[in-house]
Formats: sequence, structure tokens, C-alpha cells
Amino acid sequence: MLYFDHAATTPPYEEVVETVAELMRRHYGNPSSLHKYGEEAGKLLKRAREVCAAALDAKPGEIIFTSGATESNNLAVKGAVLQYASRGRHLVTAATEHPSVFESCRQLEQMGYELTVLPVDEQGHVSADQVAGAIRKDTVLVSIMHVNNETGRMQPIHEIGPRLKAEYPKVLFHVDGVQSFGKLPVKLKDWGIDLFSLSGHKIRGPKGTGLLYVREGIKLLPLLTGGGQEFDLRAGTENVPLIVGLAKAVRMAEEGHKQFAASTAEWRDMILEEVRQIPSLVLNSGAEAPHIVNFSHPGMKAEVMLHTLEQLGAAVSTKSACSSRLAEPSRVLIAMGRSGSAASGGIRISFGDSHSAEEVKQLALAIQEMMKRLKSVERWGR
Ligand code: PLP
Repeated sequence: MLYFDHAATTPPYEEVVETVAELMRRHYGNPSSLHKYGEEAGKLLKRAREVCAAALDAKPGEIIFTSGATESNNLAVKGAVLQYASRGRHLVTAATEHPSVFESCRQLEQMGYELTVLPVDEQGHVSADQVAGAIRKDTVLVSIMHVNNETGRMQPIHEIGPRLKAEYPKVLFHVDGVQSFGKLPVKLKDWGIDLFSLSGHKIRGPKGTGLLYVREGIKLLPLLTGGGQEFDLRAGTENVPLIVGLAKAVRMAEEGHKQFAASTAEWRDMILEEVRQIPSLVLNSGAEAPHIVNFSHPGMKAEVMLHTLEQLGAAVSTKSACSSRLAEPSRVLIAMGRSGSAASGGIRISFGDSHSAEEVKQLALAIQEMMKRLKSVERWGR
């Protein structure tokens, strides 16, 4: 079975697995302990923070390790809005954000904060004008993702951030960079990003790891309080082996992003071309993020297509992994103006850096064969 679901999760690098296993055996000290074991663990933690900071062109003190991007996004959105409540009670996000941002914003709304959800166009984009137009005197935070996890559509972060910094310097700008880091260039400083989330398991690192970049000088209300770890922003004994594994993956992803984009974009274009040849399929993605293709067959349930492709040897996804068990149509595709039936039929193919052109050809053939089989099912159903 060929795996084309890298936006859901990725196979960890062998080097990461070995490092984590080795450190779990040998370096089990608590970095807060004062003896030799603690000191060794503390050094590893410090080095991992430096590696992640270097990959993001940030300072080590700006890196907060978390349990993954869900936590990073929760900490960024709720931590910022609650910390700066005296500045105002308004926040802005887009209709296509990942649930970990969207539901954090909704939770704040339920607590009495005011939320503006920006609509997207048919391609799933918001513009810098739209974002600037939504800012009010009492706006505390804007949270917009870089690459959408279902469609691969990209938001113009390089325009939104500088515009906010020029016109509304007090408004904090958070970017969910889970599907862009390691795939595309990310420029935190040039793009005026204050808070940036990434996840270890999307870049061939360990699951249950992630980080939040918090620009120097910004305070957040911690979601987890306790022993004061992670500069008082995230209490709990640090999982040093996994953090070191994350740092390895972060470094490799940053070093390899150009190569990743070059190879996956070629495969994305092969599959985009294949889908364009089939008139009954609607494309929900374009030549944007290099690794994601999304299409629907209005009238055909995504699960039927997914299982047909699975029988043909290709593992793909419906919507995002975390919402694929929900029966509702995709919120992202609905926001892009797709009909309920097209929004229920979204299939996501996402590439990693370890495929071969031969495997992608097999996927293209599997899509052709799936369409043949589905046509005969449709005819039979009439
Ligand atoms: N943000 C985006 C865009 C994602 O794709 C995901 C994972 O699906 C997350 C956030 C959550 O990441 P994690 O699985 O590390 O909690």
C-alpha cells in the first residue's frame, strides 16, 4: 500500500527514531534536577532549543516546546487574548482555519470576546485588505494559517503581516505554520509574525511534539501552570528525548525544504493534470502548496472514493485526519463555496519526500481505475 497522507502524519526519520530510543535509555534525567543526570538532560534541552531557534532564525528564548501544534495554537490564541485583555476583546481569524485555532477562537467568543471570522474566496484565500479592514480599536489578535491542511491553499502571510505591523503595530499576528514549515520558506521577521506554531509529526519528527515561537517581549497567559518550565509558559517536565527528536526533524526539514518542494510539486502537478482530465471531478486545490491535492466528485461520498483507492493500493484521506471521522461536510470546502455534496466528497492526497515518480504514476492509474469502477456503480445504482 502506497502512503499518500503526509498532511495527516509522516513516517519519522530513522535517525529521529534512533535518537529518541537512545536518549530514553541513557538520558532519562529531569532537566530541572540539580545533579549530573539533570544537568545532562538540561544541556540536551538547551541544545535542542538552539537548533530549533536557528532553523527559524529566532532566539532560543523565543522557542516554547509543546505537545504538538494543537497545543501551540491553543496557547497562542487563548494565551495572547487572555493576557492582553486590557487592550481589547476582539480577535480575527479566517473561516478555513484548523479546528485547533477555530475552536480556540470560538471558545473565547463563548467567554464574551468578539470574533470576526473572515470569509474566503472560491480559492480559499483571504487578502491583506480584508484582514486590515477587520481590525478595530480593540483588536488584540489576528490568527491566519499559512498553508491549509485540507486544500493546500496558501494565505498571503507575506502581505498580511507587514501590513499589520505598519498600520496596527499593537495587534498580535499568529500563524499556524504546520503545513508550510519544511515545505516552503518561512520568514518570521520579514513577515511580521509574532507567534508561529509547528508540529513535529508533520515533518518526520515524533508525534506529541511541537513548538510555539513567541517573539521576544510578548507575554502569554499560560494554559498549563505548575513548575515554571518553558519560561513559565508551559509547566510540566520536559520530554527531553522527544524534544531532541523534534529538533533533529526541524533541522532536517528546514535544510531540505527546497528539495522537498521541488520533488513534491512535480508529483502534485502530475496528479492535478490527471484530475483535470476527468470532467466529473472538481479540483479544490491548485498549484500552491507543493504537497497537497484535493478534489471532489459531487454526488459521490468521499469515503467510497477513499476505500476504492485503498483497494487499489493507495492510502489517501477525506478532509483532515482529525475531522475525517465526523460525518459533516468539510467546513473548509463549504467556506470556499462548494455545494454540500462536493464538500462531503473531498479527497486529499498529500505527498512526502520519499516517493518515486513510479509510485505517483501508480496513483494516477489508481485514480483512473477508481473512476471506471465508480461509473459502473453509478450506472448500476440508477
Ligand atoms: N494545524 C494544522 C494546519 C494541522 O494540519 C494540524 C494537524 O492536523 C494541526 C494544526 C494540529 O497539529 P498536531 O497534530 O501536532 O496537534
